[in-house]
Parts: sequence; structure tokens; C-alpha cells
Amino acid sequence: MSEIANGKRDHVDVAIVGAGPMGLVTALMCARAGLKVAIYERQSDFSASPAWNGTGVLAPDSEADAADATIVDLGRRSIELWPTLAAGLTVNGALVLGNRRTPTALDDYSSFVLNYDWVDEERIAFLEPALAGVYSRGMFFPQAGHADPRTLFNSLKDVLEAGGIRIRFDWVGTIESLQAERIVDTRGLGARDRFPELRAVTAEMAMVRSHKIELNRPVRLLHNRHSLYVTPRGQGVYVIGATTVDDDRGGVSVRSAGELMMHAVSLLPAFADAEVLELRSGMMPVLMNGVPKVVVGDRVIAVNGLFRYGWMVAPAIAEDLLRVIYTQATKVIHASRPIRH
Ligand SMILES: Cc1cc2nc3c(=O)[nH]c(=O)nc-3n(C[C@H](O)[C@H](O)[C@H](O)COP(=O)(O)OP(=O)(O)OC[C@H]3O[C@@H](n4cnc5c(N)ncnc54)[C@H](O)[C@@H]3O)c2cc1C
Repeated sequence: MSEIANGKRDHVDVAIVGAGPMGLVTALMCARAGLKVAIYERQSDFSASPAWNGTGVLAPDSEADAADATIVDLGRRSIELWPTLAAGLTVNGALVLGNRRTPTALDDYSSFVLNYDWVDEERIAFLEPALAGVYSRGMFFPQAGHADPRTLFNSLKDVLEAGGIRIRFDWVGTIESLQAERIVDTRGLGARDRFPELRAVTAEMAMVRSHKIELNRPVRLLHNRHSLYVTPRGQGVYVIGATTVDDDRGGVSVRSAGELMMHAVSLLPAFADAEVLELRSGMMPVLMNGVPKVVVGDRVIAVNGLFRYGWMVAPAIAEDLLRVIYTQATKVIHASRPIRH
């Protein structure tokens, strides 16, 4: 390790390519471990990452109905790590409610998830006074957090810059040209050359404002097609999302916009009077089985396929990458199928 830790002058120990959640968090963890780090991003700001338009829900336990167990484990570890990395994450749980038209949905859902408490009408009203008298039964997941992704990006940038790490935006170089002991490739959909099986899934969200509603945490109303949360951003602003469409068209379809709005209104009719602030989408990098993959080569470590869980899992993956870098190991424990090139 001393070869890396000492580094050479004008040389970085670790070059990170891509300034999405995975790249920024990896950079920060490597820097804190004493490595000299540089970040290279093709675009001119963070908005190129789908995470810029993310809904900012970090709720591994309540996502266990849809997410692979690997993702849930990474998410649980990451919730613990986030407060040591950057400001902006609030961990005060998530509430999951059943649709009144499908009363058994909660029971069915409960068989796929863990680490929750059943909550009755009184407890729901205590947690979310705005929902008092509307829902009689739900599930509370205490180990869940939410954040404004744009705040997380800026907060990570501030911490990195304070540590002397500059993000080189508008970078047009090639990975092969980088002078570094190790290169971490976190290019998301830009890494199709390395991950030919990578595909894009579009996710969509709506941002609305209502000063009549006050929610304190993400609330998920079980829905037959999507995993949708209404998440507070403060000052009466809420994000509804995300609908997902298995293609790379980008943009928000009329159908999805309608679904997002109707979802909020189904949760709480007062959302019908909310003002629409933004309708956004992003294309997420997805691998065949929906689980992140880490490929460890001699010099390049590539991580991809974070799908709809980039914020939720990046710290735990970065922690494992750091272990690989320090031990020169060629195996990563958590990834679905680590591959040695
Ligand atoms: C509407 C929506 C809602 C979402 N909600 C959530 C949520 O609630 N919770 C959650 O955890 N996740 C959420 N996500 C998913 C999250 O955005 C992704 O999982 C995450 O962006 C993946 O992170 P990444 O760093 O692996 O890749 P990316 O974020 O795609 O970052 C890759 C970066 O690499 C750059 N790049 C590409 N090619 C090159 C190159 N050649 N050279 C240099 N740089 C390059 C790109 O410009 C980009 O900045 C949501 C996404 C969307 C769209």
C-alpha cells in the first residue's frame, strides 16, 4: 500500500471518472483515507447525473419488496455512513400506507420487508398530523432518510473542495490517458464501452408546492405499478416520485405526469391545489439483474448499475472499494458478480 499512499509528485493515487453520487462519495472516502484524489467529469456541472433530479429517498427497508437483498444491505450500511460524509440527510423514518381500495396490500407487502413497526391511526396522526383521520393503518420504517439531492451534491462538493480536491468539469480526456495508480470508473451510462449490457431506465418526478400541507418524512402509498413516495423538501415543497419507464427516451410523459399528480392527490386530496414547480426525468444506469456490479482490474475499478438506488447505496460501495484499493484485493464482497479482468 505504501506505493499508493506515498504517491508520486504530479501523480494522483486515485483518479475518479464521473461526478455522480458514486464518484463523489468514493473520492471523499479515498481522500479521508489519506489518498491523493482527482475527479474528472465530462459535463460542466452536476445536472448531467440523473441523481440531480432524484427524489432523495434512502429507505432500504421499505424498498425490500422490490430491491435485491444486496441493495438493502448496502442501503442499511450507507444510512449509517452518510452523516460522516456530508450534510443534508434527515433520518426520521418513512411511512408506508395502504391504498384504501386495496385493503390487503399492506399485509401482502409486509411479507417482503423487515425492520418496521405497524402503526395505527393514533400513531400515524402523531407522526404526520396532516394524515390524521385519513389512514387507520400503516407501517413505519425508522431507519429511513431523505435529502434534497442537489443539497447533497453541493455539500459533497464543499467538503471535497475544503480538502483541496477539485472536480475537473468539462473533461474530455480518456481513462487510458490518466496518470494515477488506480482509476475508479463511475461513468454511469457513459461506461457502455466497459459494460455492454448496461441499459437506461428513465425515472420521472414532480416537484410541487403547497403551504396547506405539512409532512415530515417520505410517505409511500402502496401503488400497483410504481414505488412512489411523497417527500418533503421544506418550505412547503414536495417531490413525488419516481415513476420508471424501461427505455431511454428521457423527458416526462403525460401518462407519468398524470400518475405522479394523481398519486399525491390519492395520498392527500389537498395536493390537488398544490402548484407544480418542476417535472423532471433522468436516465438511470441499470445492469441485467438490477444489482450494482464492481469490476476490479489491475488499474481500473469500475462500478456501475446503481439503478434507482445511487444515493442509497454509494457510501457502502465506496467503503468496499476503498478496502479493495488498500489491500490490492481483486474481489469485492458485496457485488452480485465481481469479475476479475
Ligand atoms: C427521477 C429520479 C429519482 C431517483 N430517486 C432516487 C432516490 O430516491 N434514491 C436514490 O438513491 N437514487 C435515486 N435515483 C437514482 C440515482 O439518480 C442513480 O442511482 C445515480 O445517479 C447513479 O449514480 P452513479 O454515480 O453511479 O451514476 P451517475 O449519477 O449517472 O453519474 C455518472 C457521471 O459520470 C459522468 N460521465 C459519463 N461519461 C463520462 C466520461 N466519459 N468522462 C467523465 N465523466 C463522465 C456523467 O456526466 C455523470 O455525471 C433517482 C433517479 C431519478 C432519475
